Amino acid sequence: MTRNLPLVFDAPRRSRPPQHLADLDPVQRRAAVTELGEPAFRARQLANHYFGRLGDDPETMTDLPAAVRTRLSEALLPPLLTPVRHVTCDAGTTRKSVWRAFDGALFESVLMRDPDRVTMCVSSQAGCGMACPFCATGQAGLTRNLSTAEIVEQVVAGARSLSRGEIAGGPGRVSNVVFMGMGEPLANYNRVLASVRRLTDPAPDGLGMSQRHITVSTVGLAPAIDRLTDEKLSVTLAVSLHAPDDELRDSLIPVNTRWKVGEVLDAAWRYADHTGRRISIEYAMIKDVNDQPWRADLLGRLLSGRLAHVNLIPLNPTPGSDWDASAKPVEREFMRRLRAAGVPTTVRDTRGREIDGACGQLAAAEV
Ligand code: SAH
Repeated sequence: MTRNLPLVFDAPRRSRPPQHLADLDPVQRRAAVTELGEPAFRARQLANHYFGRLGDDPETMTDLPAAVRTRLSEALLPPLLTPVRHVTCDAGTTRKSVWRAFDGALFESVLMRDPDRVTMCVSSQAGCGMACPFCATGQAGLTRNLSTAEIVEQVVAGARSLSRGEIAGGPGRVSNVVFMGMGEPLANYNRVLASVRRLTDPAPDGLGMSQRHITVSTVGLAPAIDRLTDEKLSVTLAVSLHAPDDELRDSLIPVNTRWKVGEVLDAAWRYADHTGRRISIEYAMIKDVNDQPWRADLLGRLLSGRLAHVNLIPLNPTPGSDWDASAKPVEREFMRRLRAAGVPTTVRDTRGREIDGACGQLAAAEV
């Protein structure tokens, strides 16, 4: 029957980003190179150029014959991310980048340099489908999932800038990656997981980063957390809780109507049990919404004795929202109560605020 469908259904749809070396694992790379008529060992040469040396100019691949360089890089290293703009603040140590993909989709990444580390905050989706009312990305809805290579390229772009000394503080390396940019990483599970492998596989198969320095942050898709547990990785899991009770969390994190606080935390504890990794509980402090002392006490009871710490994030008010950050004394009292319950608690530094590069402010718009 499909034969009778109008031609438009047969039209090639360019819905997927072009394939890139970083989409493929080492076995798939060898197959791809062989398919292009080259010996399989060229896959490793290409990977060494891309992951090992962060190269972006085929001419520097001098271990490959000139004609092969062009052919392989055209087929396996297509440009995926076009910079729309880079904006910096914090004396040049924080840089937000807005990227445009092959299909016009926009997404953002943020590089943050501290004395002891450099963190890349990356997007896993263009937009987000989770619709959390306090988050700027959530307001615009989901455009699409990013490909594995589109995620990896955000980190590679930051790593290149650092290695070339373009970031204040001199040449350096990306040490940490947090999936806290646009999107819900566990809603793009396979590609996010593959990107974690590319980031952590030893060079030249990948960037050779430590799994412990990668943080996957989720609204709490409980079955996907269990899937992540089964991967036996040692990445850090962050859970965006924001409320200890279902009544309030249903309104702050709409997907809570599907997976309740108890189910999300149970999945998180299974992750902690299997990996030995401390769970990071994210809690945006929203004035008069979720910052009452009784909520601190309830949260303390839920987390006490567990392998967890709480990250309080002063709310970054998003345009058009009535919500504001909690007053500092309220924040301090909230923290005091959690600590009194034996729960390690810190307040998140909100870098990049003035360039809309801080938590929850990423909302790429073409201007
Ligand atoms: N979808 C993932 C990653 C999102 S962004 C997740 O929800 O975890 C990373 C963190 O920033 C999340 O904890 C998110 O809830 C928080 N966030 C979003 N908007 C915010 C805002 N306006 N102020 C403070 N934190 C915000």
